[in-house]
Amino acid sequence: MNSEWAKLEQQLPAMLEESRKQAAKGNVAEYIPELAFAPADALGITVIDLQGRMITAGDCRLSFTMQSISKVYTLLLALMDNGEEGVFAKVGKEPTGDDFNSMLKLELVEPGIPFNPLINAGAIVISSLIHGADPDEKVERILAFFRKLADDPSLSYNKDVYLSEKRTAHRNRSLAYFLKDNEVLDEDIDVEEVLDVYFKHCSIEINCRHLARMALVLTNDGVDPHTGEELIPRRYVQIAKTFMISCGMYNASGEFAIQAGIPAKSGVAGGILALVPGRYGIGVIGPALNKKGNSTAGVDLLEKLSQAYDWSMF
Ligand code: GLU
Repeated sequence: MNSEWAKLEQQLPAMLEESRKQAAKGNVAEYIPELAFAPADALGITVIDLQGRMITAGDCRLSFTMQSISKVYTLLLALMDNGEEGVFAKVGKEPTGDDFNSMLKLELVEPGIPFNPLINAGAIVISSLIHGADPDEKVERILAFFRKLADDPSLSYNKDVYLSEKRTAHRNRSLAYFLKDNEVLDEDIDVEEVLDVYFKHCSIEINCRHLARMALVLTNDGVDPHTGEELIPRRYVQIAKTFMISCGMYNASGEFAIQAGIPAKSGVAGGILALVPGRYGIGVIGPALNKKGNSTAGVDLLEKLSQAYDWSMF
């Protein structure tokens, strides 16, 4: 393991530069206008191990928003707030094979619940399950949880991205009203308030170190590797990691499981959170996306790393 760490330290910069070439094959997301400003050829990575050692390469200091990556951790908070039964009465456990913002199939699972908590419809339902007296308190609780996981008390959401998404979220808005009509969002729930919580957690601004550190807590079964405090019950970490394998990389989750074989979650800002169970937490940023919505260069780098160091769980 020590020799692997030394090799990784030595080889990572060159591997990253090789993968960076893949960025030219992708495009930065534009459907949230503010995301279009991201540097398309950026690629950065941070790896942290359980002893707290850190390796970085490339544009690892770039700030970006979590987008869908946040859904893994709002799911965890919702599980901690409501228990498994409470959560899975409202969202399913199966991949969809459709786009993350798809409206197809919403009718198909009894009684119209979203297929899983990582697609937009599922994550919007999860936002409604976070405890709190009002949307502000819910967002504060989410931020407090994320700050602990990322080990940074200054973590917050990016107002420009939040407002940009809020202004242009016609599809998410229609998904949410559809869920309300299906009574998956209860009668007393204000749809715009739920959406506000969702937009804000998607807009939380981080860098690769934050992601690697948040992944590290999952790597360590929910226990903060430095303080020894249990931040998330192990059972819920197990659930989250399973969703990351089955649905974390959108419609390319099966392919990523075959090529890399490690739990991961990507977001449309180009971030990928990944972990090597029992060993490393990893954060990657590469804003240029492929057609499935994953970072072209980021996926390439993770697949090459996993193959070079034999990280696949399978
Ligand atoms: N906030 C984004 C949306 O709702 C998240 C999508 C993603 O990262 O997959 O469209």
